[in-house]
Amino acid sequence: MRCTKCSGLMVVDHLLDMKESYLPMWMQALRCLTCGNIVDPLIHFHRATQQAQRARRLTTRFARKTTRPAVAA
Ligand SMILES: [Zn+2]
Repeated sequence: MRCTKCSGLMVVDHLLDMKESYLPMWMQALRCLTCGNIVDPLIHFHRATQQAQRARRLTTRFARKTTRPAVAA
């Protein structure tokens, strides 16, 4: 997998989540070897959800434009 910021190589890394969890929790994530960008499962879920919402909005806008009746000149 390639980094979305710099196209560097992403590798699996184990991170300790100390802020978001009540108890310290190890989690598996992807880390870019070049820029240090980290993508954990929650970040990946949010990005995928946002992309799906954007795609749905574009589809809705396109459908509205194509179904709108033509205006007579
Ligand atoms: Zn990177």
